[in-house]
Amino acid sequence: MKSRTEYLEFNTGKRVDFINITDDVEEAVRKSGVREGFCLVNAMHITASVFINDAEEGLLQDFAKWLEALAPHEPTTRYEHNLTGEVNGDAHIKRTVMGREVVVAITRGELDFGPWEQIYYGEFDGRRPKRVLVKIIGE
Ligand code: ZN
Repeated sequence: MKSRTEYLEFNTGKRVDFINITDDVEEAVRKSGVREGFCLVNAMHITASVFINDAEEGLLQDFAKWLEALAPHEPTTRYEHNLTGEVNGDAHIKRTVMGREVVVAITRGELDFGPWEQIYYGEFDGRRPKRVLVKIIGE
């Protein structure tokens, strides 16, 4: 069995941001040499997500608006979590809704996506260094 582990690093300029990481993950799969297997991609922070959806700008804005309506950043006093001194109660909720990780099958050396599927990093408490784990196993 072959395996490869990579860490992608992010430090977004905005508090909330979505970054298409499909090319980075495809590159990791190429480097792994795996032809048949699985690729796990997960956010390593509890205020960031990895998810799969369409690379369409309007949809990304819709996600941001919907998440902000669901868990507004302000007023920060609305979150029990913020009594700890942090102000990211909303970001924890947004991360949980959007998910921690994705697993994509590798078939004949390529990520075996459905139509329009792209892998995104979702940041909900940015402006600091964060990592995403890419773990590939197979043969
Ligand atoms: Zn927190």
